[in-house]
Amino acid sequence: MPSRRRGSRPSSRPGAVFLNDPLTGRMAELQQVQPYQARKEYLCPGCNQEIRPGVGHVVVVPLGGADLRRHWHRPCLERASKHGL
Ligand SMILES: [Zn+2]
Repeated sequence: MPSRRRGSRPSSRPGAVFLNDPLTGRMAELQQVQPYQARKEYLCPGCNQEIRPGVGHVVVVPLGGADLRRHWHRPCLERASKHGL
């Protein structure tokens, strides 16, 4: 039996997830931050509350605008992408 060839991967990072950034309206890459990677406090733009060190969350990185990246609580981002800020 010939094994079925897997399609070649797109040029982007494997497993990359894209979404529409609610803040900038641009396409953005969603990056996961694991609890052990969260070493600083960030202000979540969804609820204006801090994301404490050691709390897993997500980063939204607008394509071509890495300086506009923002850290979000995951539920806040989901709410904002569905219903707006
Ligand atoms: Zn939040």
